Amino acid sequence: MSISKKQATRNHIFYEVTRSLCPVCRKVIDAQVLLRDNKVYLRKHCPDHGWHEALVSTNVDYYVNSLKYNKPGQLPNDFATDVDKGCPHDCGLCSEHQQHTCVGLIEITNRCNLSCPICFADSGVNYDLSVKQVEDILDRLMETEDRPEVLQLSGGEPTIHPQIFEIIKAVKDRNIQYVMLNTNGLRIADDPDFVKELAKYKPAIYLQFDGLTDKTYAQIRGHELLSVKKRALDNIAEAGMDAVLVASIARGINEDEIGDILRFGLEHPAVRGVCYQPITYVGRCAVEQNPLDRATLTDVIDSIEKQTDGLFKTSDFIPMPCPHPVCSASTIAFVDEKEVIPIPRIIDIDDYLDFITNRSTPNITAELQPALEALWSMSLAVGSDKMAKSLECVACGVSLPANLAESIPKGSFIWIHVHGFMDEHTFDIKRLMKCCIHQLLPDGRAVPFCAYNNLPYREQVKQSMVKRK
Ligand code: SF4
Ligand code: SF4
Ligand code: SF4
Repeated sequence: MSISKKQATRNHIFYEVTRSLCPVCRKVIDAQVLLRDNKVYLRKHCPDHGWHEALVSTNVDYYVNSLKYNKPGQLPNDFATDVDKGCPHDCGLCSEHQQHTCVGLIEITNRCNLSCPICFADSGVNYDLSVKQVEDILDRLMETEDRPEVLQLSGGEPTIHPQIFEIIKAVKDRNIQYVMLNTNGLRIADDPDFVKELAKYKPAIYLQFDGLTDKTYAQIRGHELLSVKKRALDNIAEAGMDAVLVASIARGINEDEIGDILRFGLEHPAVRGVCYQPITYVGRCAVEQNPLDRATLTDVIDSIEKQTDGLFKTSDFIPMPCPHPVCSASTIAFVDEKEVIPIPRIIDIDDYLDFITNRSTPNITAELQPALEALWSMSLAVGSDKMAKSLECVACGVSLPANLAESIPKGSFIWIHVHGFMDEHTFDIKRLMKCCIHQLLPDGRAVPFCAYNNLPYREQVKQSMVKRK
């Protein structure tokens, strides 16, 4: 018997197996999660379309350690569908789903006054939900949730729905505490009467805001929109409403503007938060991106540290515990003219939000625990009384400079969120099953957002709406 040469080793560490989608035919297939060169990849094989690999994260430590923030899920009061074909084809929610609805989303229209090259909703089929349909959806939400907290009105472009105010009123009438309007801001920028009426209801404005150069808007939105976005924000401030800037981040287009967006948000009186979303290949995505070299959640967090000269650091970002913790991360900071103090620098968040290993830690402060859980929740209502109370509680539990502690209820804070939505390349069923952002459909179903975008659910709704016309 001859002595063999040293056997080769694989160039990755095999971490686990999950289920994903074939990026060609969208069949559900097994996927390996592999760790290689401090990056996380999904590797999968479709019997008809061969092997595919996609980058998921650029920080193995972050990915692996985020699991300790995985909070036990909460049951909804009712499920809408049976377990039949298997996940993700039974949405939903079916009884195997692992989290209730933290954020309910209603696409009240498919129409839009823009035609962005990267529209995940693939707007343009031209339907509006009726007010009655929206009311039925809301009533169903009231049945499944004891006290729904956050409802997002989305589209298409929700501000061009002819009954937008009746719809906002229907949400408020049901005592749903927090209404968000996901908008491109065009109408808010240029229709003063609309803004005046909107100010009566004071929804939080989730304003699409991808950067501070016209070049970026031309590439991502098809038009040079910077002045429109700034005008919309000024109108929001003047009307006494709060805004969250929502930036889609694409490799090679606007990654270098991540810090500028945050600095701009810190200085604008309307802005209470900034939400970054690396772009996904869903809906209509005409911007060329490489699945192996794309902007990820961890890239965005790294860029925030680098491009703000450490004003915010990677260690300030904590994975969100209510969905799967790999999905998103946030930080909240107290802010005044002189300083920015991210909460994770003054409290060891692990003492409170490490749900896997620290659940029986005896010495944690009883008041701080729920305050921090409320702040690191997808149902956090930025600018709400509940958020102000949680921040006050945190401020009492630590020694903040008096000027900052006193001004918290008036809004001296910023929330920064990074959300890594999934597409056919990064789709991971373990994340989907814990999703807490649910698209609420006219037929009473609640479909986890990434299932709605990657499987035929949106198409089904479009077809049924077009048939009704
Ligand atoms: S994503 Fe959730 S609701 Fe949908 S099929 Fe899977 S477990 Fe059921
Ligand atoms: S991304 Fe938003 S603003 Fe752009 S076309 Fe789609 S719905 Fe309209
Ligand atoms: S929407 Fe997608 S990325 Fe976000 S929590 Fe749900 S499954 Fe995760």
